Amino acid sequence: MPGIPFVVAAPSGAGKTTVCHALVAQDPRLVFSVSHTTRPRRSGEREGVDYHFLERDEFQQLVGKGAFLEHAEYSGHLYGTSWEAIREPLARGLDVLLEIEVQGAAQVRERLPEARLVFLLPPSLAELERRLRSRNTDSEQEVARRLEIARREIRQVEHFHYAVVNDAVERAARELLSVIRAEREGRAEPLAKRLAPGALSPTLRRALELPDAGREMG
Ligand code: 5GP
Repeated sequence: MPGIPFVVAAPSGAGKTTVCHALVAQDPRLVFSVSHTTRPRRSGEREGVDYHFLERDEFQQLVGKGAFLEHAEYSGHLYGTSWEAIREPLARGLDVLLEIEVQGAAQVRERLPEARLVFLLPPSLAELERRLRSRNTDSEQEVARRLEIARREIRQVEHFHYAVVNDAVERAARELLSVIRAEREGRAEPLAKRLAPGALSPTLRRALELPDAGREMG
């Protein structure tokens, strides 16, 4: 049986990289999809491990060749998941984890209906801002830009199959693992039950500045 593609999308700063690495470390059947990007390498990042780093024209050439399952522009840089990154592990029956932003997740939903989409939420916008600042790798302007994008992205949460709040890395990773295992065993709950508008608590909705569920349903 082919593996399942799992998409974990989250605003930058929601802690998705940490949670995803914890997941892959705990589950031998899950492999990480290494993306391509035109963003400059941050210190500590390794070519071919964190990303495949390339120039914009090289990226565009790959787009022209149909090399990407999905790609998107995020904060002035291009990011994409190559078919190559997922094809071989899926064929071997391994599940693949795509850690991507929200526009890319929407493309995966269209092109790979078998993919399962998880939105990793920060506990609040204030906490997201704190995490973005404490990372200290981006300029003040970049932090402001990422926060603005995050507000727009969080509004897309209800198009996902699951939502997991990253209040603590270990807990969020555990919850994600239980989603993955349930999907493998074919015992996931029906879509509508998994992430109905009421599934996010009113408190969390307020913290994330989402419209309240009652208003949306009515
Ligand atoms: P960062 O620059 O912080 O590494 O990533 C910025 C955003 O791009 C994050 O939300 C990250 O998940 C997303 N991203 C990373 N790889 C991909 C990819 O292959 N496709 C898309 N659409 N987004 C990606």
